Amino acid sequence: MRIFFRLTALVKPYFWWMALAALIGFATTGSGIGLLMTSAYIIAKAAFQPPMAALQLGILGVRVFGLARGVLRYAERLISHNITFKILTKLRLWFYDAIEPLAPARLMHFKSGDLLQRIVDDIQSLENIYTRVLAPPLTALLVTALMWMLLGVYSMQAALLILLFHLLAGIGVPLFSTQLSRGIQVGIMKHKTVQQVLALDLFQGIGELQVYGKLPEHLEHMRSAEKSKLELQRRNAIIEGMHDSLTGLLMNAAVISILWALIPTVSTGGVNGISLAVITLAVIASFEPFLPLPATIKHLEADKHAGERLFEILDAKPETVAPATPLPFPSNHDIRVEKLSFTYPDSLSKTLETISYSIPAGQHIAIVGPSGAGKSTLTALFMRFWNCSEGQITIGGHNINLFDPEELRRNISLVSQRTYLFAETIRENLILAKPDASDDELKKALSAAGLAHFTSKLDEWTGQHGMKLSGGERQRIAIARILLQNAPIIILDEATANLDGLTEKEVTETLKAITAGKTLITITHRLKAMEEYDNILVLDKGAITEAGLHHELMEKDGLYKRMWSLQHEMAATLM
Ligand code: ATP
Repeated sequence: MRIFFRLTALVKPYFWWMALAALIGFATTGSGIGLLMTSAYIIAKAAFQPPMAALQLGILGVRVFGLARGVLRYAERLISHNITFKILTKLRLWFYDAIEPLAPARLMHFKSGDLLQRIVDDIQSLENIYTRVLAPPLTALLVTALMWMLLGVYSMQAALLILLFHLLAGIGVPLFSTQLSRGIQVGIMKHKTVQQVLALDLFQGIGELQVYGKLPEHLEHMRSAEKSKLELQRRNAIIEGMHDSLTGLLMNAAVISILWALIPTVSTGGVNGISLAVITLAVIASFEPFLPLPATIKHLEADKHAGERLFEILDAKPETVAPATPLPFPSNHDIRVEKLSFTYPDSLSKTLETISYSIPAGQHIAIVGPSGAGKSTLTALFMRFWNCSEGQITIGGHNINLFDPEELRRNISLVSQRTYLFAETIRENLILAKPDASDDELKKALSAAGLAHFTSKLDEWTGQHGMKLSGGERQRIAIARILLQNAPIIILDEATANLDGLTEKEVTETLKAITAGKTLITITHRLKAMEEYDNILVLDKGAITEAGLHHELMEKDGLYKRMWSLQHEMAATLM
């Protein structure tokens, strides 16, 4: 129930619009009842061949109710759809606003297919909270009250009977069908999530699945998820069919029992024959708003499940938050790392332990070390994807936690091993770094990054994940982004590791040219052109074990020298 109340709180701003739509919805059903009642009145009365004038009131009623029903239905649909789209817009914006600060630290535990399901299907399911969950019971309740009063005018017995059957159709049938369909909606949603996750894995990992012969097994998983979902949908359809039949059965039972109760009173003058026809058709029409009620409970179950999944994400606390009054990014770009330690959540040991070093502004330093030493973790701390567990990183003498994380990230360019390109045009992928960049700026950046031949292809699609580009071209797009961003600090995290020797050499030269005069932190385990760095830090098992210039480290006979010698021996053997 708590989830339901939290969900209704979200749609509270539209309360008056919803109330208006519900009122018009009720008026529409009321017009339908009025139309049938007046029609029954005319037909029954005409059987006695009265003068035309005696039918005038009935004819007017048919016209008014007939027209009103159409116009009101249109108005109700217009308003309720407007509310639905407003709710959808609000939910999507609300969700994106909430999810963005959680990336990447808090989203690592979710599979991307699962997140996609929450963003698309779960929110889609919640858009119906007004039309399918809140409005139908309200309309049914108002119609029950209307019928109670209307039939009360003719006969208290009929009024009591209609109340009984409305209660059965409004509470009994939905409760019965809820009992039968318990868990079906949640089950369908769960199978859909599994399908999304499997489908994404298939698209992204089809190569690996084929190479390791796991494609048939993966497809079998997908088929089995589809089969289980279809089975639940089949059961759902049977129960839905049963709801409609039961409501129809109750409607007929209501008609028969009211006729059975009233017919004897016709001869005694209690109810006249015309009124009997009017009541009968009114009873039939009054069951219309009860038909969607079982679906209401079904949607309620689905909405609660969707709400739980969304709140699970929204209630997560972001790893990093902007301070209330963030400091402006300083003009002094001296960096200091002071006694920094870091432990990943759920991890038993420290990934980084008591690291301290300084990088004066404009210096080029390299952080080297074996795989798993913690080099990329250090980058993530610089970008404030995570907070340091102990110690601090300062820029210009200020703890980086005092800056707005977005401002910090604008001032640090990061190129990683694998540049992510969106399935967009080259232009869209570049303006990420500078949203207001002119065509001229984009072309200059491309040319400087060694992609002069792309300047005429700004609006060409890069393919899914930039698949239409080679690895070298993708890294050059990242370089063009650095140029556009023009940040004073640049971090290259294995930026050339995936490239062949020749391309690596070209890309490295371009990088050298564009990083001149800026603070550069190169993270690598491949020791090439190391003599060009102002300082080299050797990271091993989360601690800095050596630091100095290339020739100093080569004299020490430590890990650095071993790594360098090993790599150069291997290179010599391959040549
Ligand atoms: P490589 O050169 O292979 O990229 P690295 O030096 O950059 O390695 P990191 O990626 O920083 O190493 O990883 C350091 C350690 O932290 C590893 O043992 C890794 O398993 C662990 N680690 C990395 N990311 C996470 C995470 N999100 N949660 C838990 N542990 C992590």
